[in-house]
Amino acid sequence: METMKALVYRGKERIELTDRPVPRILDPRDAIVRVTLSTICSSDLHILHGTVPRAKEGIVLGHEFVGEVVETGPEVMHFSPGDRVAVNVESFCGECFFCRRGFVNNCVKGGWELGCRIDGCQAEYVRVPFADTGMNPIPASVTDEAALFVGDVLATGYWAAKIGEIEPASSIVVLGAGPTGLTTMMSARLYSPSPVIAVDINDHRLDVARRNGLCDAALNPLRDDVESVVKALTDGRGADRVFEVAGAANTFEQAWRIARPNAIVVLVALYPGPQELPLHRMYGKNLTFKTGGVDANSCGEILKLIDAGLLDTSCMITHRAPLNDVLKGYRTFEKQEDGCIKWIITPYEHERDVK
Ligand SMILES: [Zn+2]
Ligand SMILES: [Zn+2]
Repeated sequence: METMKALVYRGKERIELTDRPVPRILDPRDAIVRVTLSTICSSDLHILHGTVPRAKEGIVLGHEFVGEVVETGPEVMHFSPGDRVAVNVESFCGECFFCRRGFVNNCVKGGWELGCRIDGCQAEYVRVPFADTGMNPIPASVTDEAALFVGDVLATGYWAAKIGEIEPASSIVVLGAGPTGLTTMMSARLYSPSPVIAVDINDHRLDVARRNGLCDAALNPLRDDVESVVKALTDGRGADRVFEVAGAANTFEQAWRIARPNAIVVLVALYPGPQELPLHRMYGKNLTFKTGGVDANSCGEILKLIDAGLLDTSCMITHRAPLNDVLKGYRTFEKQEDGCIKWIITPYEHERDVK
């Protein structure tokens, strides 16, 4: 049996780079994709730390990647071997009640499966279910690196900005300037908000946001009184839209406090535990909360915006190394060492094994 290298989740706090059989077509709608680039996502860390109860032990981790189709099942209509594809974090049938309404995260036959309930992409090959809906062709003029985040972190930022109903000159605050925060800011820019205020405790990440024109003001809660600065920047009202992507101990409370009355507060963060919603303290503030796991149903649209130069995630790529070094990648990414925002995994280098 042909084998490949893959990063396997063995249970809480245990991952292992090991040999696994190369995946095969199991359903007529599957495709097998050779992974050309993948990355580590904070959801992978959540699985590693045991805070994703639906994650299965023994699966290959990873759900953010691009690749080349090597085989398709007999019912795959839109792809053939050799196609370059950006793959969606969500597997969805395209036919059920939720899919027909664009709520692909709630597909009755899918949702977040890859690298959570079935083998994911931190490997040399991956089986993609519902290939026709879950894969998007990468235009010839878009590089693999430029398309790498389309199926997950960029889809999330794009979706967050969309459900945030940003109007021109809306004041917005993005809590968290990590990968999802940065993609939320760049997607929000498509709607011409002003000002965009980024908040993070990591100055390097704030710098990246500022230098790349993703925000107009950058606040560090370790130094700035976020609530009063946001009020000062919004004529004393608070922000029109707040995007909570940080998921830290106090960021949920901060999100609704810095929102103006009648604001929309978009909660994208995956919290490790319960949050308190003290309705008696916000009575009359008439907030709209939108919560979320991404509905990644706009990947084709996002690829067009990348091709047109309107979305550019290159500022997030800080590290590149082959799959051989993936364990180091997990440590560096989690600790945000060496300015790490996104650790890019290039294909396994077998020649390094032959000493
Ligand atoms: Zn992810
Ligand atoms: Zn469905």
